[in-house]
Amino acid sequence: MKDLSSLSEIRVLGKTYTIKRFDFDKLVQHSELLGSVSHSKQEIQLHNNDVCSENQEETLLHEILHIISRELKLEFNEDTINRLSIGIFSVLKDNELIK
Ligand SMILES: [Zn+2]
Repeated sequence: MKDLSSLSEIRVLGKTYTIKRFDFDKLVQHSELLGSVSHSKQEIQLHNNDVCSENQEETLLHEILHIISRELKLEFNEDTINRLSIGIFSVLKDNELIK
């Protein structure tokens, strides 16, 4: 069982992505976003350091799905990624596959 909220990097499809966490209010220009991915920098940015860790973990999964969608050319839209991340996260959590 892994605690996603303490990860500093994660491997996705053979590439290592750095995970950076920011306080929500320090990113005024992205204040509506809970997370984002820089594909060129291989970096996942979580903008919600001040929200509960469960919310952060789901955001991390959401950003991972953006990477998978791009790398595998699935072309998922935001709504599909939202629904998938909620579904997969609930299975991981309810079966205690993640903390
Ligand atoms: Zn998104």
